[in-house]
Amino acid sequence: MNKVYKRTENGVTGFVSQREGLAEINHAMMDGKRDVRTMSSVTRTDYGIEYKDGRSVRLTLIDAPAPEGFTQGQAVVVQRPGQAPITGTVAHIHTAPSYLAVMDDRHRAVANYPTSFVSAVETGEGAEEEPAEAAPDAEPKWSVASHRMLLHRFTEDSQDGRALCNKSFRPHRYANGYDFQTRTARSSDEYGHLYTYCPRCDAK
Ligand SMILES: [Zn+2]
Repeated sequence: MNKVYKRTENGVTGFVSQREGLAEINHAMMDGKRDVRTMSSVTRTDYGIEYKDGRSVRLTLIDAPAPEGFTQGQAVVVQRPGQAPITGTVAHIHTAPSYLAVMDDRHRAVANYPTSFVSAVETGEGAEEEPAEAAPDAEPKWSVASHRMLLHRFTEDSQDGRALCNKSFRPHRYANGYDFQTRTARSSDEYGHLYTYCPRCDAK
């Protein structure tokens, strides 16, 4: 489990890497000593620094906190800016502040990503409601390209539509026609939880 410094400055708490925390402690003891009024070492891993400019800083070495909303083994999608999404599972949650270690499904390789790039795969039951980003009538509709339960977005909501992720995917026609629905409508459906949404279409 990785360690980080919990850093509280005048009552405001955040987390900094172990290296950043040590750098501030060392600076206060050495080069930056003239800016320090008092420095106290509560324990070997817990320091209080009173700066002459009035700032009061407490640095405590702790186990890296788990990012909120993530658990080990959870299915996630990693979306890095300008790159194809990666599907994977959370390998470790105690890495560095605001980072998650994710093992990708294809290569079984573990890498760290900022939590802002990682989102939980909706599993239906107990999943949190997606925040509505657009007006309901602007919400894209999704359909399936085969009998599988993976929904794609199409260039248009008709038999002429082509999947955004792969132009050769055409919407599947059921006996009663084509089934284009928004996520909102689908999630209120009795079987809505059985579907998953194509991450590549979602990223378009
Ligand atoms: Zn797709």
